[in-house]
Amino acid sequence: MAASSNSSLSGSSVSSDAEEYQPPIWKSYLYQLQQEAPRPKRIICPQEVENRPKYYGREFHGIISREQADEILAGVEGAYILRESQRQPGCYTLALRFGNQTLNYRLFYDGKHFVGEKRFESIHDLVTDGLITLYIETKASEYISKMTTNPIYEHIGYATLLREKVSRRLSRTKNESRKASVTSEENTPVEKITSLVRRAALTQNDNHFNYEKAHNFKVHTFRGPHWCEYCANFMWGLIAQGVRCSDCGLNVHKQCSKYVPNDCQPDLKRIKRVYCCDLTTLVKAHNTQRPMVVDSCIREIEARGLKSEGLYRVSGFTEHIEDVKMAFDRDGDKADISASIYPDINIIAGALKLYFRDLPIPVITYDTYSKFIEAAKISNPDERLEAVHEVLMLLPAAHYETLRYLMIHLKKVTLHEKENFMNAENLGIVFGPTLMRPPEDSTLATLNDMRYQKLIVQILIENEDVLF
Ligand SMILES: [Zn+2]
Ligand SMILES: [Zn+2]
Repeated sequence: MAASSNSSLSGSSVSSDAEEYQPPIWKSYLYQLQQEAPRPKRIICPQEVENRPKYYGREFHGIISREQADEILAGVEGAYILRESQRQPGCYTLALRFGNQTLNYRLFYDGKHFVGEKRFESIHDLVTDGLITLYIETKASEYISKMTTNPIYEHIGYATLLREKVSRRLSRTKNESRKASVTSEENTPVEKITSLVRRAALTQNDNHFNYEKAHNFKVHTFRGPHWCEYCANFMWGLIAQGVRCSDCGLNVHKQCSKYVPNDCQPDLKRIKRVYCCDLTTLVKAHNTQRPMVVDSCIREIEARGLKSEGLYRVSGFTEHIEDVKMAFDRDGDKADISASIYPDINIIAGALKLYFRDLPIPVITYDTYSKFIEAAKISNPDERLEAVHEVLMLLPAAHYETLRYLMIHLKKVTLHEKENFMNAENLGIVFGPTLMRPPEDSTLATLNDMRYQKLIVQILIENEDVLF
């Protein structure tokens, strides 16, 4: 695995720099094992078999015993047949030769074939994947169990120290780093280096706000060979070889995903919308402190709407509010919401409220909801304020920051109460159910909680200076 020909980059153009950033080296041991795994050998039944299910081919041998199956397979590694159970007709078994024995698996079909979690289009694919998995897990069980102990993922973090070098390299040429990684592992297809370099490059951006964000891993089928960006090992198998974060594109083994820290940096290209997007995901993707909808709308309202009668209570035209939402989804922070397009400030106020209502997790999160309600029920005002303060500390950082910013704004709104007739209590009625929703959608609970939701927002506005 030595980087035998790693010289194309470091040897030539920048060899003088001893501490130069080295792209992580992919480990190809498991890739080689996958290449060595026995291939499936389909043993066809010489006779026409009656009652063959239409989703099986001629590898189906009908009702035969285990011993007969064993004979047909004739000790050939990778050989397989399908048979119907003698005791339970209608139940099917895959008989497969591996490791000098015949393995029998109960086989299922629901439009796709499966024996475990993975679903396959064909029996051939199922057997191919099964043989790879059996082979790798037999040959490399100890290796796999230790795979996560020395992750390359750490190096990505270290890239901050190497910031300058990385950025110099990135600016020099985009393709050079890719070339370097390919030559470091001869003849092994490598294509994921670009995402690592991308991640390394991201850490040099000082503008980002250090909100923690968990990755959004989903089981993924990779086309072509892929390497885990956590442990640097090959992701084996035919399908569902690992998981991919749908926000940032990080690819890792399922077992490695448990060790990846909550440092997801969403890729703007993967975030399709502004509304209905998770709050932390949105601010990380846009590299802002708060959702830019909140900043834009509040800026606009403070510029021309603070004295507007019934601000946030009077509703704007629904269609116009939907227009604003579409503009943000389409144009992001470049959305034009100026008076020349939307002269009615209630449309902007409505768009801001809609943004909060559309959040998949409210600003006051489901996790903290009941704690806020409990705090609101305390009768002693000082104790109540103390309790609210404590729960506020439990909010995710981006949620906390958004709430803080909104409350400073709403406080300003109340300072113009003489003109707009909106005090903290009125605003509590409007914003209570917008900022907090009970985790379970129970109408009764919502009705009972309404006055406490109102009270929480009222307390937050009136005490924003001491609470945040
Ligand atoms: Zn991610
Ligand atoms: Zn891994």
